[in-house]
Amino acid sequence: MTAAVDELAVDGDRLLRRLDDLAAVGSTGDGGVSRLALTDDDRAGRDLVVEWMEDLDLEVSVDRIGNIVGSRSGLTDGPPVMTGSHVDTVATGGRYDGNLGVLAGLEVVETLVEAGVTTQRPLAVGVFTDEEGSRFSPDMLGSLVYVGGMTLAEGLDARSADGVRLGDELQRIGYAGVVPVPRTAPAAFVELHIEQGPVLETEGFTIGAVTGVQGISWQRVLLTGQANHAGTTPMHLRRDAGYVAAAIATGVRRIALERGGGTVATVGSLGLDPDLVNVVARRAELTIDLRHPDERELRLVEAAVAELVAEVAATEGVEVAIERLARFEPVVFDETIVDLVAGVAADRDLPVRRMVSGAGHDAQMLARVCPTGMIFVPSHDGISHNPVEHTDPDDLVAGADVLLHTLLILTDTRGPGRVADGR
Ligand SMILES: [Zn+2]
Repeated sequence: MTAAVDELAVDGDRLLRRLDDLAAVGSTGDGGVSRLALTDDDRAGRDLVVEWMEDLDLEVSVDRIGNIVGSRSGLTDGPPVMTGSHVDTVATGGRYDGNLGVLAGLEVVETLVEAGVTTQRPLAVGVFTDEEGSRFSPDMLGSLVYVGGMTLAEGLDARSADGVRLGDELQRIGYAGVVPVPRTAPAAFVELHIEQGPVLETEGFTIGAVTGVQGISWQRVLLTGQANHAGTTPMHLRRDAGYVAAAIATGVRRIALERGGGTVATVGSLGLDPDLVNVVARRAELTIDLRHPDERELRLVEAAVAELVAEVAATEGVEVAIERLARFEPVVFDETIVDLVAGVAADRDLPVRRMVSGAGHDAQMLARVCPTGMIFVPSHDGISHNPVEHTDPDDLVAGADVLLHTLLILTDTRGPGRVADGR
C-alpha cells in the first residue's frame, strides 16, 4: 500500500469546482466575496461546507464558539492530525483567503476516500469562527478560544462596531454548538493558505514553507481637541484633533521606514468629527497596525509610536485615549513540520522557499497547543482582501498536493523515507 499512497494526488478540478461553488455564496458580482463573520452569508457558506463534510461521511461537531470540525477515524485512536482555516471574509474579500485551506482539507479527505485509504491517525478539517476580525475583534477569535487563549464568555461577549453581540449572532445563525472549549489539542496542525503578499510570485516559487507569523499590534487612538471656526481661529490657538491624527499617520510611516528590517506600520482607518470643510476637527479616531517578526523589535516600534503620539498631542493641546484592539506576539512554527513541508514540496519538484507570514492566521493559535506549520501558495501581484485576489489554478492544486502528502506523513500513513531534504 505504501507505494500507492506515495503516488496519490488530489483531483484539481474537483478542488477548483468547490472553490467556485463557495465563492458564489456572498458573491459581490465583481469576482469578490463578502461573508462577514456570523452574517446570513457566513451561515450559507458554513452550511455548504457542512453539507460537503457530511457527504464525505465526516463526523461534524460544532463547539460553543461556532468552530466546525469534520473528523475522519484512523486505524488508531487518539487526537487527530488537523488541517483547516476559515470561511469568513472581509467585506471586500477574495475567493481564496481561508476558503482554500478548508476546501483543500476536504479535497484531501475525498482523495483518501476514493483511494480507499484510511490514515493511521485520525484526520480532521477545521473551520474557525471570525478569523478576519472585520466584524468582531480580535481577529482569529474562534481559534483563540479553541486553544484556550480567550475564555468562552469573553468570546461570546465580543461586540461588532454596530453593537451586536457575537454570542447572539452565533445563536441566530444556528452555529452555537455544544462541544466545550477549549477543545482537545490536535496531534498536529497544518494550514494551507494563499500568501497574500508578493514574495513567492516575484521570486518564482510555488510553495512557501512558513516558518512563523510576525507579531501584530493593533490599537485605536481617540483624540479630543476643540471644534472651532476655520477662518477666525489663529493657528497657535488651535487644538486641532485632525492635525494630530495626520501627524501621527505620517509619523508612524516614518518610524517604520527608519527602523526598517521588516517593520510594517499602517494607519488604515481615520475619521474626523465633525468632518466639515470650515471647522477645526474636535475629535479624531484612527487605528495603528504595527507588525514585526521579532518581539523585541516590535516592542521598540510600539514605544517609538507611543512617544510620537504623546508628543504631537501635547504640543497641540489634544487629549489622547488609546484602546488596545489586538496584540499577538510573533509565532515560531514547529521546525520538524516546516522541514516536512519543504521536503514534500522538493520531493514533488516544486520550487519551495522558507518564509515568515506577514498576516495573522488560525495556525498561529493552534501553535500554542500542538506542533504546527503552514503551506503558502503565491498570490498574483501580492493582492488579497480584494475582489481581484488571484492564485494560479496550478498553484492552488500544487498546494493541496503538498498538504495531502504532509498530512499522510503526519498521520503516519506514509513514511518520510522518500521525502527529499528541501532546505
Ligand atoms: Zn485567511
